[in-house]
Amino acid sequence: MRIHALTTGTARLKHAFLHAKTGPRRQLDLFLPGPWSEPLPIHCWAIEHDGRLVLVDTGETATARDIPFCRFDVTREHELPRALEKVGLALADVDTVVLTHLHGDHVDGAVHVREPVLVHKAELAFAHSLRSRFFQRVLRQPMPTGVEYQTFVLDGGPFGAFAASRPLTDDGRIVAVATPGHTPGHISVVCVDDDGRHVLLAGDATDTLEQLHARRPDAIAPKPAVSIETMDAILAHGRSHPTVFLPSHDPESVARLESRITL
Ligand SMILES: [Zn+2]
Repeated sequence: MRIHALTTGTARLKHAFLHAKTGPRRQLDLFLPGPWSEPLPIHCWAIEHDGRLVLVDTGETATARDIPFCRFDVTREHELPRALEKVGLALADVDTVVLTHLHGDHVDGAVHVREPVLVHKAELAFAHSLRSRFFQRVLRQPMPTGVEYQTFVLDGGPFGAFAASRPLTDDGRIVAVATPGHTPGHISVVCVDDDGRHVLLAGDATDTLEQLHARRPDAIAPKPAVSIETMDAILAHGRSHPTVFLPSHDPESVARLESRITL
């Protein structure tokens, strides 16, 4: 198995997002002036395994609009086709695409994908909810058009410390696991590498490893307590299996992948 980190540009997040307060200020501060982070990567992942090429997330596109708490730097050159070429892969070789969740920086690149895109059923329902459609509209973050979704449910039982899962390959070495919080239907993908370590492609379960250890939800999780439960599951999983934790926007994710640094 080979796991490649792809980078589809960068985003700067408001400090109020990464270091969210509790209570009413948690979301209010997102819309007030405040300091910004350095540019953070927008990663997605390509997994070569058993003659297959599996993509986890599709990254952002140059059409992304800034929002009050996130500023994008994404050009056409950063988008999925070129990001794959940079690691010696081609879009035409991709046979499975699965999304961690349906925010633009994870799904917008799906405009480049011809085959159906796998998405957790609960996540698609959330993206189509009134609440989500309201925010998509006021923040001018429409869902990409022309993408064919194929929903799945997590009916494979628990996987380690994760309450629900579904294998994505016959050999069970690539597995979707429930990591709700950032969005209600958010999933992560566990890849069991050739040495038996669990490489956890964690989407936005947290933005950084620091946030995981601090058990600090971000500013937009609908129910912060659900985020904390997920962080506790990830930490518990890391105690029972060597686990490499790779959130999509952590500047340290690539180094942890390359050196297989575990929790
Ligand atoms: Zn994201």
